[in-house]
Amino acid sequence: MIYLDNAATTKVFDSAITAAERAMSDGFFNPNATYKHAVSVKTEIDKCRQTIASAIGATGDELIFTSCATEANNWVFEHGRKSPKGNVVISAGEHPSVYEPAMRLASRGIDVRIAPITRDGKVDENAFSKLVDENTSLVSVIHVSNETGTVNPIKKLSYIVRKKAPRALFHSDGVQALLKTHERLDSLGVDLYSASAHKLGAPKGIGLLYIRRGITIAPFMLGGGQERNMRSGTQNTPYIAAFASAVQQFSAFEKNNNISDIRDELCAYFSDYGCKIVGGDNSGYILCVHFPNVKAEILQNLAADNGVIIGKGAACSGSKRGNRVLAAMGLSEKEIECCVRISLFPNITRDDVMEAAGIIISAADSIRSNNVG
Ligand code: PLP
Repeated sequence: MIYLDNAATTKVFDSAITAAERAMSDGFFNPNATYKHAVSVKTEIDKCRQTIASAIGATGDELIFTSCATEANNWVFEHGRKSPKGNVVISAGEHPSVYEPAMRLASRGIDVRIAPITRDGKVDENAFSKLVDENTSLVSVIHVSNETGTVNPIKKLSYIVRKKAPRALFHSDGVQALLKTHERLDSLGVDLYSASAHKLGAPKGIGLLYIRRGITIAPFMLGGGQERNMRSGTQNTPYIAAFASAVQQFSAFEKNNNISDIRDELCAYFSDYGCKIVGGDNSGYILCVHFPNVKAEILQNLAADNGVIIGKGAACSGSKRGNRVLAAMGLSEKEIECCVRISLFPNITRDDVMEAAGIIISAADSIRSNNVG
């Protein structure tokens, strides 16, 4: 099987499984107890936090572990607004875990403004700049689109926010960007940043919220005061260990592979076949491809029958019809139905990817010749 749906989730690294197993067996103690065995588990958690922080350009005290990025995003929308009445600005390219909490604020009477995205999938900077004002309390813009891999210029947008809305907090959903864009968190100008471990070779069920030093937001979960009183609940020590281990493994593979070159070759191959590549400036990890007159769902299933797994829109909204983000980029419903998402991982080989591309093209050919697309 050649797995090319890494934007949905990734296969867990063996080293991450080993780290989790060790934390579950030798390190099973409650990290918040006071005897020495427990204290050493707490020390381990902080070492993991430090490992992740150094890899992403943060400090350990800026990272709060959560159960997933959806939790981190919900936290930001519930408690990350500078004033309860100010307006909120998001982009039209947001993942549902940002978009839906923003819509909930709108339903409570908050002025939620949606900055359009352009045909290449990026935030329209002019429109964005007009929406942000001195009454803005929170801005949230996705760093890398989970649909197309398009990278938003977060640093540039943060300047706009600082200038026009000095009191607003600036959040970015970095789930598809972390360790993939080579931008350090401390250089982005964000106050809050969400990430998820299962896109990096760790298990599902662990994520984090970066809260820049000096920024205060209210805790999301109240209770025993874990995670510096910011997120109560006994820490998921096995998955924290797996997260830190996966970050190290991912970074090591990243150094030795040139994903962007593989993606460029893939783009050229599909373009020669008559496909359109959807979205601009790319992280290198995601490719959204439009196959004219070939329904994505049929192509996805036929490719899977032939051993190649590809995606079709955000996996977590797989049950919802249409695609809000691609529609915001100006694609028609018919075009959207014919878009698949191919997403890479740093330990993938160029030969596997190109073999998969051949299988996908053969599947598209056979769908066209059977006239079922
Ligand atoms: N944000 C983006 C951009 C995503 O791609 C995803 C997952 O697909 C999420 C948020 C949600 O992450 P989690 O599964 O950790 O809740």
